Amino acid sequence: MAGIDLQPADKAVFGRLKSTGHITHSLRRVMTQQWNRCCVCGKAVTHNRPAFAGYDTSGIPLLVGAECADRLSELATPVYWTGKLDLSVPDRQFVWRYMDFGKFVTMLKQRGLFVPAADTFEDRFEGAIGLANRQVAWDQFYLDFFRQAVTTLPPGVPPQVKSEDEIEVECKRLLNDFKSDSRNIRKTLVSCWHANDGESEALWRLYCPPSTLGIAIKTTAEHLWSIGAARPDVLVGRVHYVDFAKAFASNDIERIFCKRASLRHENEVRLVLSNDRKHPTPGALIPYDLNLLIQQVVVSPFAPSWFSETVSDVIGKYGMGFNVRSSELADEPFY
Ligand SMILES: [Zn+2]
Repeated sequence: MAGIDLQPADKAVFGRLKSTGHITHSLRRVMTQQWNRCCVCGKAVTHNRPAFAGYDTSGIPLLVGAECADRLSELATPVYWTGKLDLSVPDRQFVWRYMDFGKFVTMLKQRGLFVPAADTFEDRFEGAIGLANRQVAWDQFYLDFFRQAVTTLPPGVPPQVKSEDEIEVECKRLLNDFKSDSRNIRKTLVSCWHANDGESEALWRLYCPPSTLGIAIKTTAEHLWSIGAARPDVLVGRVHYVDFAKAFASNDIERIFCKRASLRHENEVRLVLSNDRKHPTPGALIPYDLNLLIQQVVVSPFAPSWFSETVSDVIGKYGMGFNVRSSELADEPFY
């Protein structure tokens, strides 16, 4: 958690523009995809300085460094990206979902993407900060951080006399607030996809094992962004695999993009939506034209030969026109 070192050029931006907090879907997408690179000059923003997210005079969303901030006519928010995860996924990256046929038919029927809450998933580590036996170390780190924040006042703020005991009570309160906030992360709505240019035999075996009827649908990261176009809170990003014996997950929403290193083979890309804090739902259906979303349906290499025709029939019955093909794993070799 390195400190922020504001330079005169950064202060000049804050002097000229006040943050409006107005973050549209397009701006969030630019902020995620650019991560720390200025949209204008392409340079990475210096590590301990802010980037500026906003809009030019035509309303085009931009993320820029202070040196190119004259292009902004509205500042939505500064971005202190130090320590943030790079979630960016190229728009053209192919992403897949492997599923049993029942789930696929439900999807056709619902005419959209069902996005479940992460706490309904099997993985107990969804939204976890780290390993239970390292909790004391994490608490200690944040208590130290809060102690410093409470006792180091910004210039111009008159010193408040506080006893050691009062400081300890205040820091523990801050830690508890921070933790209860972070428990909400487990309620985040998450749709999981596998990033890969081609098929994965491992994922076929995992999600559509022999003697089951399964298919995989293929789309691109760009389409995942489009699904959430009506929601300014949507995030599409790649998962980071964390060795929890040595590290903790990130803070805030980025935590939902952190999984155990043992799941690295999933090479996951997630579409993430916030859940209602007071009345969280177990999942939400995002209506979307599946003809736009699904570029291809691939039939499991482990399914019986009659199954392909059934898949095509059912797709036709729901008025869809996807490209259906059999798995490349079923291709014949020559010697
Ligand atoms: Zn620049």
